[in-house]
Amino acid sequence: MRYRDQRRSESPAPRPHFTPRKSMGQNFLQDEEVARWIADQVQPDGADFVVEIGPGMGALTKHLVGRPKHLVLIEKDSQLAPELQGQFEGRKDVEVIHNDATRINLRSWFKHGPLRIVGNLPYSVGSEILKHWLTPPSPVGCAVFMLQKEVCDRLAATCEDDAYGALSLLVQKDWNVELLRIVPPEVFVPKPRVDSAVIRLTPRDPATLPVFDHVLFDRLVRMGFSQRRKQLKNLLPEAPGGWEALIQALNVSPTVRAEALSLTQWIHIARWYEQRHEADAGQKASEMFDVVNERNEVTGQLTRGEVHKRKLLHRAVHIFVINKRGHIYLQQRSHLKDVSPLKWDSSAAGHLDAGESYASAAIRETHEEIGIEVGTTEVAATIPAGDNTDHEFVELHLARHDGPIRCLPEEIATGDWFKPEDITAWVEARPQDFAKGFVTCWKVVQSFSSTLFSPATSRTS
Ligand code: SAM
Repeated sequence: MRYRDQRRSESPAPRPHFTPRKSMGQNFLQDEEVARWIADQVQPDGADFVVEIGPGMGALTKHLVGRPKHLVLIEKDSQLAPELQGQFEGRKDVEVIHNDATRINLRSWFKHGPLRIVGNLPYSVGSEILKHWLTPPSPVGCAVFMLQKEVCDRLAATCEDDAYGALSLLVQKDWNVELLRIVPPEVFVPKPRVDSAVIRLTPRDPATLPVFDHVLFDRLVRMGFSQRRKQLKNLLPEAPGGWEALIQALNVSPTVRAEALSLTQWIHIARWYEQRHEADAGQKASEMFDVVNERNEVTGQLTRGEVHKRKLLHRAVHIFVINKRGHIYLQQRSHLKDVSPLKWDSSAAGHLDAGESYASAAIRETHEEIGIEVGTTEVAATIPAGDNTDHEFVELHLARHDGPIRCLPEEIATGDWFKPEDITAWVEARPQDFAKGFVTCWKVVQSFSSTLFSPATSRTS
């Protein structure tokens, strides 16, 4: 049966043979006006790619179908998913994925550009879905979710509000959260016990906050809110320079509690523990580089500013860090970078300092940018200077690493491990998401990438 045949003035009531499952958060929306309104909030008309999480029996879906160029429905229920697949069989613009939205691999979705996602989320796993889809790096450009009102209140709360807590801060550091509408239990079957609400999340402009170490921020916020009645000074580790100095810098009472501090003040705390007291600075135009001729021979030294302004030939190294699964770590460049801000790039990359070799620059950049010590690197390719490398003679190095990565916040906005085939598809679909030098390096290594990025075990054989 085709979807069109199923349209009716009201959303379908649960079928007689279908018993909604509480463990799957199955409360089905019955109100046409609310369903249409939620679908509209994600602005699906003409969008390239819209994802609906938990379509169930299609209450929202019927108001989405035909509006974006491509609609993807992710349903976990093993009875509902095949029904949806049957309904949309033969439609090129609708794809039904029978999968778990808390586990589905999102790395392959960056190639679709910033995604619009929408869902009347299963309340049983709402928080897990939020975490999976919204933790950076996220391919999401706009999310419209219906959830328990209490959770939406916490997501949108500021430090004046009762609902304010660790969740508010951990989400708002990366997302703008708008509480759009409250929805009563009566519009669902079965009827939930609590009110629901609809929120919209859009990525926060990183320039609206000073840079900070996100891992440290998360740890401090969780500690600070671990016992709400306790004063912050008894929950956080010893502050560098002492608690009094930190309190004075924040201009708050020494007995302050976690919930009295705003997002900006919490970021100030994270920066204090990092001992990051200077205002954020971009890259130094006064840094000295070797200038080279067209044979890559050093002819002199000039400042970074001068070299870039006059488009003089110089040297840079790119490093692809590969783990034992054969995945490559890609970084998204910080908004503070003077060249290609917020573009995706090699694991680490940078100019050679005056007098420095490519090999030592590779080890230095890997340490400075992503906090790992690689004893040696191997040269994978040398790439002549040109427009496609921003006038840099590039050496591409490979390094192996499996442990954690710690990004330097002023250099890197975020990063993650990607499968080579996902990178290839992403570069082909959206070269504009990447720094020019990376695209050039990627194209060069692709010709021999099957051996280069094969998992470590097979490489050694
Ligand atoms: N969109 C429908 C509506 O508004 O009536 C159904 C919403 S119902 C609250 C949640 C839906 O999510 C159900 O269809 C349920 O089977 C599905 N679901 C539950 N857990 C899921 C998961 N982990 N991944 C994908 N879908 C899930």
